[in-house]
Amino acid sequence: MTIFAQSTVPGRSAIAVIRISGALAGNVVKRLAGGIPPSRRACLRALRHPKTGEILDRAVVLWFASPASYTGEDVAEFHLHGGRAVVDGVLEVLAAWPGLRVAEPGEFTRRAFEYGKMDLTEAEGLADLTAAETRSQRRQALRQLDGELGRLYEGWRSTLMRGMALVEAQIDFPEEGLPEDLTEPAWDNIRGVLQEIRQHLDDQGRGERLREGLSAVIVGAPNVGKSSLLNCLARRDAVIVSDQAGTTRDVVEVAMDLGGYPVVVADTAGLRRTDDEVEKEGVRRARARASEADLILAMFDARNWPETDPATRDVLPNDGLVVVNKTDLIPGSLGGAPDGRRVWPVSCRTGAGLDELLGALTAAAEERLDPGFAPALTRARHRGALETCATALDRALEGVFVGGTAELAGEDLRHAVAALGRITGRVDVEDLLDVIFRELCIGK
Ligand code: GDP
Repeated sequence: MTIFAQSTVPGRSAIAVIRISGALAGNVVKRLAGGIPPSRRACLRALRHPKTGEILDRAVVLWFASPASYTGEDVAEFHLHGGRAVVDGVLEVLAAWPGLRVAEPGEFTRRAFEYGKMDLTEAEGLADLTAAETRSQRRQALRQLDGELGRLYEGWRSTLMRGMALVEAQIDFPEEGLPEDLTEPAWDNIRGVLQEIRQHLDDQGRGERLREGLSAVIVGAPNVGKSSLLNCLARRDAVIVSDQAGTTRDVVEVAMDLGGYPVVVADTAGLRRTDDEVEKEGVRRARARASEADLILAMFDARNWPETDPATRDVLPNDGLVVVNKTDLIPGSLGGAPDGRRVWPVSCRTGAGLDELLGALTAAAEERLDPGFAPALTRARHRGALETCATALDRALEGVFVGGTAELAGEDLRHAVAALGRITGRVDVEDLLDVIFRELCIGK
């Protein structure tokens, strides 16, 4: 079936792109544009209604002959003037064309995968790229789209497959016995892969967090100024600020771009004892949220400092930031923390100290999210498969060296190889495809 879709956002725009992929793409272009333009060259053509001959638009037509196209099939693109009537006119013609249908979300990319143009990690990178909101997210997605992760996983898989071939040879021809100098290096390589996988897994979830955004939570007693701080940080009025204690009863989040890193800062209900049921629930959520957060900002009131409240102290981890607010209400400068920790004095009212705090937040985000040179693990799906792979490799290695049979080791290696293959989509992933490609938009 030949598919088509508008690849640009619907609605009025300067240019709208309609894409067609499949065996009938050539016919469509011939009939609408009066001939197929040379492959991969932008050509200006009048597009005519195939029945009435009326001109629908003068548009740029791009032709990509199979297999040198996005999907691997014949692909045509019409770059239309983005008026609604123009786009609708062309879409109506395509919808009425026998053998053509509207593409489902992500279907172009799915065809590219099925054609072997990209592996699943690249398709996921593409989904991330279209969702990227900050520079660091864009970088990570582009690296993945370039196949960096896919190559890493495929590299491990091929090393394991070579090892598996040797083990299987041993099973098939036991009496001949393979020379030790052949099997020994193979097991060394397998051990090496296991070590690399363990290192890759042990990354504190950097890549996954970069996709989601680092989660930071502001905790503190009622009225210390948590909502005010969130507003200052977000430079907009996202949260209600009020004098009445206990107004922030739920958790309110603001997504921010700090120096190119995505950070989701949440304001929580003040931590205090309360008999109000709704507020109690808010306090419970605040504690739960703090326990899951990547970064905690504990806020205190300058007027009580360093008399700090134990409820907030309790949820403050060693790598949390201590923020002391309302410095405009005390004379002179703020004393240090009794335990010698670094303190960030601020005033949400005057804005004093906020730049420094923002700098500290950005540094904390960078420290926790910067992927460095090695490609980062980006998805729970990959993590699960890698853990399965590592467990199987552990078993294989242990079996071989602690008196298990070659058959068992071979079976474990097969499991390990299959787990890696599922990440890139080399083996039995039919069930996964819908989930992965639906993340993409129509026309992608
Ligand atoms: P929350 O309950 O911790 O979220 O506190 P809010 O942000 O709602 O602030 C409580 C009160 O403290 C409000 O009246 C704010 O205007 C006030 N407030 C917040 N920050 C400052 C500050 O830096 N200086 C002064 N003087 N008042 C502040």
